[in-house]
Amino acid sequence: MNGRVYLVGAGPGDYGLITVKGLELLKNADVLVYDRLANSEYIGETKPGCELIYVGKASADHTMSQEDINRTLEKKAKEGKMVVRLKGGDPYVFGRGGEEGIHLRGNGIEFEVVPGVTSAIGGLAYAGIPITHRGIATSLHVITGHKKEGDLDLEWDALANVRGTLVFLMGVKNLERICKNLIACGKEPSTPAAIVSKASTSLQSTITGTLEDICEKAVQNDVRPPSLIVIGEVVSLREELSFFEERPLFGKNIVITRARSQASALCKRLQELGASVIQMPAIEIQKIMPDAGLSRAVDEISKYTCLVFTSTNGVEVFFEKLYEKGLDSRSLHGAKIAAIGDATQREILKHGIRADIVPERFVSESLAEELSKVLNEDDRVLLARARGARALLKEELDKICKVDEVATYEAVIPKEQSDANRQIMQSKEFDYITFTSSSTVTNFISMIGSDNMHVLDGMKKISIGPVTSKTAKSEGIDIDIEADEYNIDGIVKAILEDAGRN
Ligand code: SAH
Repeated sequence: MNGRVYLVGAGPGDYGLITVKGLELLKNADVLVYDRLANSEYIGETKPGCELIYVGKASADHTMSQEDINRTLEKKAKEGKMVVRLKGGDPYVFGRGGEEGIHLRGNGIEFEVVPGVTSAIGGLAYAGIPITHRGIATSLHVITGHKKEGDLDLEWDALANVRGTLVFLMGVKNLERICKNLIACGKEPSTPAAIVSKASTSLQSTITGTLEDICEKAVQNDVRPPSLIVIGEVVSLREELSFFEERPLFGKNIVITRARSQASALCKRLQELGASVIQMPAIEIQKIMPDAGLSRAVDEISKYTCLVFTSTNGVEVFFEKLYEKGLDSRSLHGAKIAAIGDATQREILKHGIRADIVPERFVSESLAEELSKVLNEDDRVLLARARGARALLKEELDKICKVDEVATYEAVIPKEQSDANRQIMQSKEFDYITFTSSSTVTNFISMIGSDNMHVLDGMKKISIGPVTSKTAKSEGIDIDIEADEYNIDGIVKAILEDAGRN
């Protein structure tokens, strides 16, 4: 049976501007056909094994002709694949989506369109320019500024005399002609004008002027595509409505190497501050199976006088087992609960338990020190944590009492994502990369390949704390900044301070 093709609008660039439906389809696609304008982060949302086909079209060097793209979509669908054709902005706004739809329909392939936020509207909004405004612009006109040969065949008279906002797409090369033609047909030379480049991305830039001088300013500022040319009184509202370019981390590109399941808090914080964040999970959390060790420990839970958790994953896996066995938090009554880190503490609290011991510094040394004050030889400790965790804590506690260590999960390198990750790393320049544990460092290196370490050149490397920094150093990565507080807040503060200084 034939597969189906979805023509999906990716929005103008900001990761969050794809639709819920578009993202859902992207995650399930067997084949992703994408071009240059789409945010490269979306590639990372595809499932492992998804075939990635780049058909990007810079106006000069066509990577693949439109006919070849049409045929590729048809061919993949005929192989029974679920195909997502991702396009910048909206597929039907100068996106040739209609041509693809007609081709598919003509060849018996089912297709659907998922509209997107067009740059003509959303891109302007991110520059603080509303495309209409009561009393200022009563209509909007989105025009192509691109013509292969000869002059632009547009109704200049009509465009010059309409009282709405004019937005030209693909117009950078013809900017001079656009301005001259409008003025020649009677548009006021003092009409406000702006050019918004790479709108809604961390590289967004905006220049403003008038119909008369915007062209000169564009040359001075070396304006390049993709850019929006906007002409109309609404441009002057930018002073009051600009928001995107005002945020403290605006323009910064940051790589996050945490496991996807844990990265969202850090990601969100940085994005809210204006950074453009790319998730490149260098670890994935996998429960250890079979889990005889954990199972036995839970069966004998009443003999433990102290439970130690060193990460949220450890807590999650432990409680899952506890509930699976028909028990609940009450079976831990009487035992002291110790935790490293406030995220771990919060995770325990979700189960109605407040940790008794949480060291001020989020490292094993501090926890060992705190525990040595309250434990004696009659105690029995359960240490439920990651396979391959540092030996120090167990060694220190062994000196005091009997300790059972069970490995509940392990951090593994995500399979089949390496290819996509390498492509993303090479497609952009990043300002910062964050390492939030030793295993993110070592796994990151094995993922990109030790002979590809040069991809880190020019990025500042941020570490969550001394242990991670040490691992990085031993692996040949010099950490530039170490967080003062060994948690997410610490990382965010470190980046904010550094960005503020520069
Ligand atoms: N379908 C797209 C437009 C495709 S034509 C949409 O709806 O937005 C490509 C042109 O769109 C570019 O030449 C540029 O003029 C404009 N464009 C797309 N994304 C842009 C962005 N992030 N910033 C500025 N212009 C953009």
